[in-house]
Amino acid sequence: MTEGFRAVYGAAPEGVWAAPGRVNLIGEHTDYNDGLVMPLALPHTCRVEAARREDGVLRLHSADASGGVTELRADALAPPGAAGDRGGWAAYPAGVVWALRDAGHQVGGADLHFESSVPTGAGLSSSAALEVATAVALDGLYGLGLPPQRLAELCRRAENDFVGVPCGVMDQMAAACCTAGHALYLDTRDLARRQVPFDLAARGLRLLVVDTRVKHALGDGAYAERRAGCEAAAAALGVAALREIDTAGLPSALERLGDAELRPLLRHVVTENERVERILRLLDAGQVHAIGPVLTEGHASLRDDFRVSCAELDLAVEASTAAGALGARMTGGGFGGSAIVLVRADAADSVAKAVTESFASAGHREPRIFEAVPGPGARRVTAA
Ligand code: ADP
Ligand code: MG
Repeated sequence: MTEGFRAVYGAAPEGVWAAPGRVNLIGEHTDYNDGLVMPLALPHTCRVEAARREDGVLRLHSADASGGVTELRADALAPPGAAGDRGGWAAYPAGVVWALRDAGHQVGGADLHFESSVPTGAGLSSSAALEVATAVALDGLYGLGLPPQRLAELCRRAENDFVGVPCGVMDQMAAACCTAGHALYLDTRDLARRQVPFDLAARGLRLLVVDTRVKHALGDGAYAERRAGCEAAAAALGVAALREIDTAGLPSALERLGDAELRPLLRHVVTENERVERILRLLDAGQVHAIGPVLTEGHASLRDDFRVSCAELDLAVEASTAAGALGARMTGGGFGGSAIVLVRADAADSVAKAVTESFASAGHREPRIFEAVPGPGARRVTAA
């Protein structure tokens, strides 16, 4: 798999690194509210072949993007202003170099070639896979020895401040810190976390991903709007983040919140954090099948209270549960992208077929359906 790098740069790379995409089992739109999340890594990864350069030049190439090689100087990277040109896809890896350097780490030039099997814009976090692959490669090339959590924090800074996407930290933490066979229970307030065994096959279950292959244009603006709404609600309630409100405090907080538009946002965040805790308890108790209804409840909250679903995602959930799935929900930011569906193993094919047929009847594009088996987080692929 060093063909791509050699064809682009005419030499062999020093090493190959990879970082995965993810699905989020539960805990949606909570990570920018200091809340709880539970992602798992997909077997799909962004792989990067990489070599150091001594002249401070950063060259970036992706097999999945047009436009050839982007060439920059590592010591001249600066985040564009609000109206600046963000440089297309190359802003993600360039932003990681900027964030590492800005934090004082000795990172210079490099040649990087990316090839990803994570579908882009499908709610499976191809962007964090790209960032974290860049970060582990540079960490390896320059011998930084930074822990995965630190790399994730710097990748999030790259996406927030260099690319200009106001995301939370879940995606980067998932790509950096997930382990095979586990979901990652993560408290985004302090990044405390626990690897939760998630072996569905042993329970006769499977987790399907339904990639609707649509991404509605209103998604980006709506994300920023929801985020601003959550911040306004926290300010009105006098808390640092909505995470500080728990289910016991929810009724009075709803009453105190004057703005009727903000109440459903508050309700989603508080109940969603509670759903993460509930699913954690069920998984710890070995009652894996029982998480199904909690997933579906989470979808209803995202659809009705947080209002980030869309017709295709709602249909994926309705058609799969009507066909016997134990539970289903949209995953990721919403307005398109993917849904996850928990099924008994022997029902997986018939549920997938029912979803595909429902999409055809509704005149939607055919969805892409695959199984999610929790894979490892970011790593070096070739021996050092
Ligand atoms: P998601 O992270 O859910 O896939 P985003 O909109 O956050 O969706 O990120 C998708 C963007 O990330 C793409 O438009 C592209 O700019 C960039 N990207 C992701 N993977 C690659 C890749 N392998 N090569 C080039 N760009 C990529
Ligand atoms: Mg993303």
